[in-house]
This record gives sequence, structure tokens and C-alpha cells, in this order.
Amino acid sequence: MGILSDFTSLMKEIKKIDKSIDSHGRDFSELYEKNARLEEEIAVRTKELEQANKTILTLNSVWDMMNSSQPLSNMLDNIVHILHEDMNYDFVAIFKIEKDHDDKLYFSVKSDSSSKHVAKAFSIINESIETYKLPYVENSIIVKAIKERQILSTPDIKGLINMFFPALTEEQLKEVITGITAKLATIVPLHKNEENFGFVMVVSDRPETTDTEANFLSLFANQIELAITVAGLFEEVKKQAVTDPLTGLYNRRYFEDNIVKEAERSLRLKQPFSLVSLDLDYLKRINDTYGHQFGDLAIKTISNVLKREARSIDIPARIGGEEFNLLLPGVDSNGALIAAERIRKSIENQVIDTIGGVTASIGVATFLEHSDRIDELIELADQAMYKAKINGRNQVQLALIQDNANWQQTAIETFMDIIAKKRIPIDESVCKSINQKLERIKQDSNNANDTIYSIVDMISQTYNHMYKAGTTKSKLLLAVLLAKKLDIPAEEIDKLKLAILLYDIGNIKIPENILNKKEPLTEDEKNIIKQHPIIAAREILKPISTVQDIIPIIESHHENWDGQGYPENKSGMEIPIISQIILLVDSFYAMTQDRPYRHAYDIDKIIQIIQEEAGKRWSKDLVDNFVYVIKNEPIQ
Ligand code: GH3
Ligand code: MG
Repeated sequence: MGILSDFTSLMKEIKKIDKSIDSHGRDFSELYEKNARLEEEIAVRTKELEQANKTILTLNSVWDMMNSSQPLSNMLDNIVHILHEDMNYDFVAIFKIEKDHDDKLYFSVKSDSSSKHVAKAFSIINESIETYKLPYVENSIIVKAIKERQILSTPDIKGLINMFFPALTEEQLKEVITGITAKLATIVPLHKNEENFGFVMVVSDRPETTDTEANFLSLFANQIELAITVAGLFEEVKKQAVTDPLTGLYNRRYFEDNIVKEAERSLRLKQPFSLVSLDLDYLKRINDTYGHQFGDLAIKTISNVLKREARSIDIPARIGGEEFNLLLPGVDSNGALIAAERIRKSIENQVIDTIGGVTASIGVATFLEHSDRIDELIELADQAMYKAKINGRNQVQLALIQDNANWQQTAIETFMDIIAKKRIPIDESVCKSINQKLERIKQDSNNANDTIYSIVDMISQTYNHMYKAGTTKSKLLLAVLLAKKLDIPAEEIDKLKLAILLYDIGNIKIPENILNKKEPLTEDEKNIIKQHPIIAAREILKPISTVQDIIPIIESHHENWDGQGYPENKSGMEIPIISQIILLVDSFYAMTQDRPYRHAYDIDKIIQIIQEEAGKRWSKDLVDNFVYVIKNEPIQ
């Protein structure tokens, strides 16, 4: 034993240790390798996670966009931007399948990330990306991807460019592709409601599409499709809200919104705009003779003329059944008359199935020329249109500048308006006969006055059976004499003439049984009667622009000098002098007529009663002048 055995055992020990070191070393390198693999895997997973995160974020922002109800074009631009910037594609574009006139398919570019190579191609062929029709090539990778509904990739970028721009020569093509570093173009088909919509093209410098990427692109395509559908629906709803379903013209609401904007602009820039008001002639006859669907056809035909004749900034609108308005921004009355005449002619020249043809009466009014108020402008255009009707239809009439309208003209137009718009519940036969008379005066204005008086008498008689026909003319004569005695200026006298025709028009809306009641009125009935100045002023006359300045006169024609009248208990000088004249003349004539509860008074008695009211119902000065006129002027 001794040293050898010690050595042997030592060697054994050393071997053991060696072995152990060896096995530990192996363990260690295994561990090291394991660790490295793990790290690698972590890196891959992190990248995947990042990608997934990005995908989620991107999809999320597309979703947000859809909920913001943006127009489709904005939305597509945003999608392209996201793909290009955030997802690192060299070039991104969205294409839509379109049909040209002869049903040939092509692609239009709905949105694209800019690329100098694409720009170069367009500049060489001298076309714009907005209007260019990219060829739809059967059997190409694009059409294959769309038809088979799968994502396809190709490294042949040059081939794609060549297909999109067949006009390029080999030389030019080379010029376009010089410097392109992209290696792969991927085509992602898009559908909308089961139909092929188009495709997205993404070009990247990665040589192949990974599964993750393909996955992402197909998810993205779904989002784009959803966006297209939602935006399309949204645009449809928006369009429906501003257009009229029968004609596709703008509706009344859109017109009203826009005339307000136009008026603001016009006032700011001191630039006129014109309003053309159009109404079909004898549409009722067309309906009655051929049936409603042909009336509709006439309306549609006229709408198409308006659409065709209108410039892109004009606003053609259907305001009511057969009433149309056309707003002409920036156009003065001369221009508007030319446009209106062109439209009139074009309507006249339409050949319509079964009906043959139709005509329209057209009125024109210009903002800043005829009025600087919207309601007045609409009213004036409308009145001009009625004038065109009265003068024989199928013609254009320009609105009258208000100052030039004499009182008879205004009276005729006011009555036409009141009757035509059916603001008063008047018997059809009375309506007809009034209309005929008014039309006659339009043609021969020599006897305008007498006819107007007889019309007022007719209307007055319909609401007040005790009213004595023939008094309007006398009332007017007396009122004018009194006004002249009081040195009232001529234009105020014109207002008086008009007001005396209209002051009781409010009675038309008072129940007949109250107006014509033979027994004394109850307090409640009296209160109803007391509404008539307000009804006249605020309901019947308010929408008629030409009578605006007599409305305050009519509203105050039952106010008393001492403040005991109605409706507002005005007193003294607060009451327009013309209102006082009307009240006095009206009372005078009421007393000259029989009433169920009393006989007519004689002149002396009337004068006595009126004098007793001096300082109460009327000013003393007015009464004195009145008595003077009655005694010294020839009155019947
Ligand atoms: P005028 O020349 O005086 O305008 O005569 P008109 O018959 O055209 O005018 P009126 O105001 O007497 O009658 C208008 C008619 O228009 C009455 C109505 O039956 C018809 N109308 C209104 N809207 C529509 C519509 O949407 N379709 C059809 N078919 N007819 C309509
Ligand atoms: Mg009509």
C-alpha cells in the first residue's frame, strides 16, 4: 500500500472530480444554450406582441374613424396613411372597380400614399390620378385576387406598373421604376355587401408576406370593408335628408339653410344673388286629365331641366308639390332673367310621354336689388311668379322694386296672395270670382280702383253679412279727404289707401256666428272679436312683404286716444294717425248702416256722437277736422 495506492485513489478522485467538472460543464453549456434559445424566443414573441399590439391599435383607430361619420374619402385617406406610416409599407393605394359609359370595367384610385414613381408615371402620360382609369385586365393577379377573394403577392412590380400604364414605352417604364427598392406587392381584395368593391395594394421592401402579415392584412381588409359600408350608408342618409325623394332636387330645408348662408355672404361681400321661383302651369289639369302619375312625370321632367341648367354652385330645390326655387349665388337680376328665360324655354321644349308638354311661370327677385331681407325676397319672387301667371303663364317676370309698386298694384297682389295661398277660409265660388276679377284688372288696369273696392266689399260681406256693399269706395274717399285736411304726406296717404282695404281682414278668421250675432255679445265673444287686428297683422299679412309697413297701422286701428282701446291700450301719439283715421271712418260708416239692434243714425246724430267721443276715442283735433270735412266736402 503506501504511496501508490494513495496515488491511485487520488487519481480516482481526480477523475471523479474531472467527470463531475465535465458533466457540470456540459450542464452549463446546455443551460447557456437553453438560455440563448429562450432569449431568442422572447425576442420573437415580443416582436409578435408588438405587431399584434400595433394591429389592434390600427384596427382600433379605423373603428374610431368609422364612428366619427367622416365622409368616405377622408376615411380611406386615413386608412392609407395608417398603413403607410405605422405599418411601414413603401406604397399603399385603395382602388375601386368602376364602369364606364359602355359598361367597360376599370379601376379608379380612391386614395394613395404619394410615391414619386407613381407621380412620374402620371406626369409622363399627362393624366391625373383623380380621373385616370386603370385597366381592368382579366387573368391578371389583381383580378384573380378579387375574383378568388384571396390575398396574393407578386415580386413583379415592374409588371404591375406596365399593366396600369400601358401607354408607357419600355424606355419610359425604365425611367419610372428606376430607384424602386420595393420587393413585393400584395393585393388585398375588398368587397362591399357581397359585391366586389376593389382592392388595396401594399408594396413593401420585405421579400415575402409572413403569415402574421397576411393575417393582419385580411383583418384590415375587413375593417376597410366595414368602413366603406358604413360611410356609404352614412352618405346615403345624409343625401336623403337634404333631397326630395321624387325628384332628387334639394328639399325645402336645405334651400332655407342655404339661402340664409347666401344672404350672409351677400351682405358681407356686397354681392347680389338671385332667387328664381317656378310653378308649373295647369298641373291640376294634367293630374285630372291623365292621372297623378303623369303629373309626377311632369314634375320629374321639370326637375331634370333644373338640374341640367343649374351650375354646380346653384341650388335647385323643390319647395312644395309643384313649386321650385333656384338659388343663383353671385348672379344679379340681369343674369337671373337670362337664366330663367333659358329654363322656361327648355321646359317648353320638353316632350313628355302622353301629356305632350308642360310650361312654367317664373318669378325672379335679386338680393340687394329688390330687398336685403330673406323673407321679403322669397315673397317678392313669389309675387313675380304670380304676376307671370296672371299675365298669361309660360313667362318670366322680374320682381317689382318695392318703392315703385303703387298701392293698387300692392292691393291686387296682396289679395291674390291671400286667396291663392288659401290663408282665408273663403268659399270656392267666391274665391273664383275674386280671382277672375283680379286677373281682369291685371290686364286692364284702368278700372283698378272700382274693382278693388268691389273685391273688398265681397270679402267683407263673406265674413259680415251686415256689411253694406259699396262702402269701401266711400270710406276710402272720406279717409283720404280727412288725411289731406290733416296735411298727411302723400306716401302716408298711399299707406292709408291700402290699410283701409285690409284693416278688417282679420275678421275672416273670427267664427261667423259671433260676427253676425244679432243678440248682444258676451264678454268672451267680445274678447274673440278683439283679436281681429292681431290676426290681420300677425297671421294674415305678416308673410306678405309688400304690406309690411301697414301692419302696425292695422294692428292699432282699435286703439283709443285715451288708452281704453285694444289690443295694446296704446294712447295719444303712440297710435299712428292713420289708425285713428281708420277707426273714425269705420265708426262713421257703421253708424250710417242699420244694425240688428238699432237703425242707422242720421248725419247730425253721428256728428254729435263722434264729438262726444273727442278726447276719448279720438283726439279733439282729429274730430274737429273730421266734422269740417263732413260738413264741407261732397261725401255720399
Ligand atoms: P296654375 O297654372 O295656376 O299654377 O295651375 P295649377 O293647376 O298648376 O295650380 P294649382 O295651384 O291650382 O294646383 C296645383 C296642383 O298641383 C294641385 C295638385 O294636385 C298638384 N300637385 C301638387 N303636388 C303634386 C305632386 O307631387 N304630384 C302631382 N301629380 N301633382 C301635384
Ligand atoms: Mg301650378
